[in-house]
Amino acid sequence: MNIFSYERASESSTAINLAKSNVAAKYLAGGTNLVDLMRETIEQPEMLIDVTHLPGDIERRSDGSLLIGAAATNTALAADPHVRSAYPLLTRSILAGASAQIRNVATVGGNILQRTRCRYFYDNAARCNKRRPESGCDAREGFNRYHAILGASEACVATHPSDMCVALAALDAVVHLEGPDGSRGIRLLDLHRLPGDRPDIETELQPNELITAVEIPPLPFARRSTYRKVRDRASYAFALVSVAAAVDIDDKGIIRDVRLALGGVAHKPWRALKAEAVLKGQAADLDSFRAAVEEELAGATGLRDNEFKIELAKRTIVAVLNELKGEGA
Ligand SMILES: Cc1cc2nc3c(=O)[nH]c(=O)nc-3n(C[C@H](O)[C@H](O)[C@H](O)COP(=O)(O)OP(=O)(O)OC[C@H]3O[C@@H](n4cnc5c(N)ncnc54)[C@H](O)[C@@H]3O)c2cc1C
Repeated sequence: MNIFSYERASESSTAINLAKSNVAAKYLAGGTNLVDLMRETIEQPEMLIDVTHLPGDIERRSDGSLLIGAAATNTALAADPHVRSAYPLLTRSILAGASAQIRNVATVGGNILQRTRCRYFYDNAARCNKRRPESGCDAREGFNRYHAILGASEACVATHPSDMCVALAALDAVVHLEGPDGSRGIRLLDLHRLPGDRPDIETELQPNELITAVEIPPLPFARRSTYRKVRDRASYAFALVSVAAAVDIDDKGIIRDVRLALGGVAHKPWRALKAEAVLKGQAADLDSFRAAVEEELAGATGLRDNEFKIELAKRTIVAVLNELKGEGA
């Protein structure tokens, strides 16, 4: 491991100023991903800026939105009584990830910025365009069971590993940022990038920008929502495919509104906008569900080991929508 210094910030301005002072500085939250990457020498920061003492409150605001401090732990967010009742998909997505011990220290900010679990990214002996631009991609012809079926490129077929982000994508969350040039908000959907020919650039963050909070706009029908994760083991495994969904069905059985997002299928949390468009105004039945998934997955392409995920994604979406339909208002 390389030598690095450690600083703790109690205000966001201190964290940002410290980050500006060293080009190789990194923010450190729970460290459950960053420290692993340092051990493997994939990340080699010279300075770690501990941001776990910045706000981590979960605040219900008068307009019905929810503001979650970036330092909130995954456990605290999943257990929050309002989150559990108003956004079941969010609680379930978090509880589907990692282990209780990891969730106790992992934070909302760190979860959003955790890096891919592609084994070739972690293997210094392998070619990886994300780790070393233009070196090649050993995943394309290698073990690619967990890799992308949507939005991938020649350069990279890695997926984003977060479960929580899939729920946040469905909820249209806004990520609050502070940086050297001031504050701004960005939709979670626009924060992560597709790989294109620069898979090493994973987000739209500017240098030294700090995630300070995540805002969830009001969405009353999210009470009827869920998250389903399909994986190789019942626990402690990343998603092959996951689905976050919320539906608003009127008393005639017509879908008034719907939110759908997929995990384990792309370089970023995948909002299923095409499926949503097909579903809105249609009867909540299997014919509509199947038409929607065909539209969403029409552009999906498989690799040697992950072709099956296309059908798996379709079936999981249909099963989740069917489950929510059965739940009643
Ligand atoms: C064995 C294991 C199994 C796991 N299984 C799952 C799983 O099934 N599903 C899942 O979703 N996740 C899983 N995870 C990943 C886990 O959820 C992440 O490691 C965790 O959420 C990262 O949060 P952290 O606070 O520890 O981040 P860190 O490791 O501290 O940081 C991660 C990244 O975020 C940056 N960062 C942190 N906070 C901020 C901030 N406020 N502003 C800007 N940048 C910031 C850091 O610089 C770093 O680049 C697993 C992890 C392990 C080790």
